[in-house]
Formats: sequence, C-alpha cells, structure tokens
Amino acid sequence: MASVKQPLDGAQIDALYGLEPVFEPGKGAPPQDWLELECAFCGEPIGTSVDLSAGSVSYIEDCQVCCQPLLIKVECDDAGHLVRGWAERGD
Ligand SMILES: [Zn+2]
Repeated sequence: MASVKQPLDGAQIDALYGLEPVFEPGKGAPPQDWLELECAFCGEPIGTSVDLSAGSVSYIEDCQVCCQPLLIKVECDDAGHLVRGWAERGD
C-alpha cells in the first residue's frame, strides 16, 4: 500500500507556525531612552542612550563625530521620564 505525501495546507501551517509574538508596550522595558543631541564642538547631531533609572544625571561622553569630550546633561522627572537633555563642552 503506497502512502501519498500531501503538501501542508494553510491550516496545518498555521498550527505549526501560528504562534505570533505578543508585544506589551511599557511592560518590562528598561528605564532607558534615546537622546538626540547636538555636539557643542562641531554642531553635528549625535544620539546617545541614557539610563533614566538614576534620575537626573550628567556625564562625559566623547562626540561620535569629532571625539571632543561632551558634558551630557539629562533631566528627568520623578516618574523617571526624560524631560530634556543637552550637551555642553566638557574639559
Ligand atoms: Zn562633535
């Protein structure tokens, strides 16, 4: 007795691969935000990720374009949301 192989139909493919990822915005997201800044030395737009779990912070980060030391200042509110951020000339 010969067995006939049949191609998978749509319902079978759905059963195999039908598990769709579920995204829940705001759940489990790290307290991090992306900051767009303008370099205080060369004026080029730069982007940096900031850790908002520590509240308002300032730190030195080299410009990605001209490699000068920028003093990045970040302000966030009590809820840990980014209020504003900017870059000054560091020494
Ligand atoms: Zn620069």
